[in-house]
Amino acid sequence: MKWINHQVVTGVIMYAVTENLLIAVCGMAGAILPDRVEGNPRRGILSWGWRSRHRGWSHWPLLYIALMGVLLKWQGIPPLAALSFSEFAAAEHPVAIGLSLCIGALLHILEDAVCGKVPVLTPNHKYGIRLFAVGSMGEYIFALATVLFCYLVKTAA
Ligand SMILES: [Zn+2]
Repeated sequence: MKWINHQVVTGVIMYAVTENLLIAVCGMAGAILPDRVEGNPRRGILSWGWRSRHRGWSHWPLLYIALMGVLLKWQGIPPLAALSFSEFAAAEHPVAIGLSLCIGALLHILEDAVCGKVPVLTPNHKYGIRLFAVGSMGEYIFALATVLFCYLVKTAA
């Protein structure tokens, strides 16, 4: 999925859930994080071996879940308290920003899983379905459908 669609889909989902613009923007930043840490495929020192690294450890969900655990531990927050994420978001607690980045990255991985394969339990074993090709009209239709779905759910609630 292209970065613009990752950001739109993730931002809309996070805003629909939290109704907090700061959290949605942090989620949008996290939505490009897994690709961003892989480096640019066309230039720079990180371009070497980009293809072999693509959707590897940077797209491993357990990495972001572990980061969330470390963040909660560092802030002295019990892990189950993270389930009340919307309360942290409403208070704009600093931990909510870090959690939003990680949740944005997890949504990115989920979005990649519908247009290719991503790691699940280990960085090397990848799973996913290919509903559409990256950059295709199908991707834009998927993004638009997700935005409309979030809108309909919010207006019906
Ligand atoms: Zn990706």
